[in-house]
Amino acid sequence: MNLNHHYDLAVIGAGPAGMAAAIEASRNNMKVLVLDDQTAAGGQVYRQIDRNYHKNDKLFFLGEDYWLGKKQVEDFKHSSAEFFPESRVWQITQDKHVFFSRKGRAYQVEANFILISTGATERPMPILGWTLPGVMSVGGAQTLLKSNNSGADGAVFAGSGPLFYLTIWQYLNAGFKVGAVIDTAPGRLSWSHYLWALPALLQLNLLLKGLRWRSHIRKNTKYFSEVRSVSISGQSTAESVSFLDKYGEKKKLYASHVFLHQGVVPNVNLTMATGLKHYWCPRQLCWHPETNIYGESSLKGIYVAGDGSGIAGASAAILAGKTAAKHIVQYSRRPSIFITFLSKLKRYKHVAARPFLDILFCPPKEWRVPFEDETIVCRCEALKKADISSAISLGVAGPNQLKSFCRAGMGRCQGRMCGLTIQKMIAEYNNISEKDAGYYRLRPPIRPLTLGELASLAED
Ligand SMILES: Cc1cc2nc3c(=O)[nH]c(=O)nc-3n(C[C@H](O)[C@H](O)[C@H](O)COP(=O)(O)OP(=O)(O)OC[C@H]3O[C@@H](n4cnc5c(N)ncnc54)[C@H](O)[C@@H]3O)c2cc1C
Repeated sequence: MNLNHHYDLAVIGAGPAGMAAAIEASRNNMKVLVLDDQTAAGGQVYRQIDRNYHKNDKLFFLGEDYWLGKKQVEDFKHSSAEFFPESRVWQITQDKHVFFSRKGRAYQVEANFILISTGATERPMPILGWTLPGVMSVGGAQTLLKSNNSGADGAVFAGSGPLFYLTIWQYLNAGFKVGAVIDTAPGRLSWSHYLWALPALLQLNLLLKGLRWRSHIRKNTKYFSEVRSVSISGQSTAESVSFLDKYGEKKKLYASHVFLHQGVVPNVNLTMATGLKHYWCPRQLCWHPETNIYGESSLKGIYVAGDGSGIAGASAAILAGKTAAKHIVQYSRRPSIFITFLSKLKRYKHVAARPFLDILFCPPKEWRVPFEDETIVCRCEALKKADISSAISLGVAGPNQLKSFCRAGMGRCQGRMCGLTIQKMIAEYNNISEKDAGYYRLRPPIRPLTLGELASLAED
């Protein structure tokens, strides 16, 4: 592996934001390194685009937004940036050393600037039965579709949000039979929806696209709207889904595959473990790293761009990556107030609809903290709601103290699947805000690391 020890810019994540930054910085003669844990560039949205493009049937069912990424991936491949796929970054130090593992070996590089563009992750959805084999996140179902053109006929989709409708639409276009769609979005809009709908009109195309997906889904599936109290049951695998329909009537559907989704949140494991400052975003109900309009974080020279700094979508991620790279290229020159204003204006065009979408698809409370005591909350340690509640009632001050009481959040996922639920449970028990309840203190390595990999660092 032909790796230098020093780079001008190290980019973590080759999604739309990371690729845009790498293209811009390498155009300006910077020595750029890009690391991503997937096998190819593209991130979540353009996953496997290169390989799919060269397939005979070209998987047109993924939609035109997917294929828009082809040009960006081509530009990235033709840039001078050095790209190492299958590289898991597990630590960044404040003096800008990046540690990562690739094919069983660990490496360390140093950079003048670092851009963290590690994207989003799906919000945990702890409902009864969510850990049964056959139950997956909608993002997982979409990953299978993009990676292998594989899916499950007769699957039931439960949840709401843009990625939810997009994936069902792609599933139907791909020719898979959808068992049923259980939609939890509100049926009637309130005054706050209408208020936020006004600026959202600036992204009318996006809204119309969403409406088209939803109407296609309604026409072509067994569709239940305004659903509540969803749970999954089965002996050793998923067998059925129960819920209350909009009239309050109890329904039960038989399905061996259930795909769940209630939105995406920034993937903050790396930014938190690096020690960047974060703030609680009450509208998106999750933590965001603190950055200025150019993406520079609370640590000088370390930037965050794309969905990892707040959910805003692929086009905003591209703009954020490019803006960060431009700022890095001209680092010693402070941008004028006018340039800063222009940057904000440019960004607004890509995020105008976001507050409306955030409010419309706000996760229902019963899906943020499970109703039933038997529901597993921390999957890695197999801890149920009852286990966590009894530990909290012993007087736990926050998620970090809870770790020593019951090991919640100490498993392989490092809290990705339980952190937000546990934070809310602690807030509710102590009658404090979620912000005050706080989050896990994350520590490197943020990804599993073998002793052999660690030892291989000494070979350099
Ligand atoms: C499962 C899922 C599916 C999605 N599908 C779509 C879609 O089809 N259409 C759409 O418009 N939006 C989709 N989104 C939302 C979407 O992620 C974005 O709007 C857009 O891709 C954000 O771009 P980004 O560059 O910020 O991050 P991403 O595209 O997510 O790219 C981040 C990259 O960083 C890598 N990475 C993360 N952590 C590490 C690490 N520690 N070490 C190395 N690499 C790392 C990831 O593997 C990924 O390739 C999806 C989100 C999720 C969570």
